[in-house]
Amino acid sequence: MTWKRVDQVLAALFPVRCLLCGQATGDLAPVCPGCRGDLPWIDPRNPGPGVIPGVHVRCALRYEYPVDRLVAAAKFGRQLPVARGLGQLLAAGMPPLAEPPDAVVPVPLHWRREADRGFNQAEEIARGLCDDRGWPLRADLCRRVRPTPEQSGLGAAHRRQNLEGAFALVNPRALARCGHILLVDDVLTTGATVAALSGLFLAAGVQQLSVWTAAYTPPPADQVAARKV
Ligand SMILES: [Zn+2]
Repeated sequence: MTWKRVDQVLAALFPVRCLLCGQATGDLAPVCPGCRGDLPWIDPRNPGPGVIPGVHVRCALRYEYPVDRLVAAAKFGRQLPVARGLGQLLAAGMPPLAEPPDAVVPVPLHWRREADRGFNQAEEIARGLCDDRGWPLRADLCRRVRPTPEQSGLGAAHRRQNLEGAFALVNPRALARCGHILLVDDVLTTGATVAALSGLFLAAGVQQLSVWTAAYTPPPADQVAARKV
């Protein structure tokens, strides 16, 4: 029996409830059709935020109510099903790709923070996406080697400094077989986190890099000004 089949049996026994209104969704979707239509979707035809030159960046939802509450529940409320549900919403909001990525890589958490939180929300979002699309989840290709303060609340320049030396690649042999890597995170703001990771992967010879995040919030105007300096 495949895990997908097990999920269907479990869904029949314990109907999936909408993360937002609590009604049974009728299938494995995390949000009922009514709530799904009300979500602040970003049109996938829009050019994504150009935060990293040469890297295709796309975000599914605007980081506003109720998406901000879902992210907070996943991140700080230790709500694993909410994190997976955000991954399913990411899958629903993104167009199909002509060529699947060779590896879907979640932005890693430092092991100590992951132990505190119980899981890495970016990894669970990536898992929801990969379950939906049938893509390979590879959380073993990089890790966060230095604990860093939360990015939120820091200005753009501080965000970049905060991440210097924070990540390291592991498993270079597996990486050599990855032509196209898709990085996944929960929220994109200045792009400092994914830019730091992208730099490592591109320097290691990865030819194509894409970034998908569940939500996007533009940085405050003063941070945009700081980024241009
Ligand atoms: Zn609902």
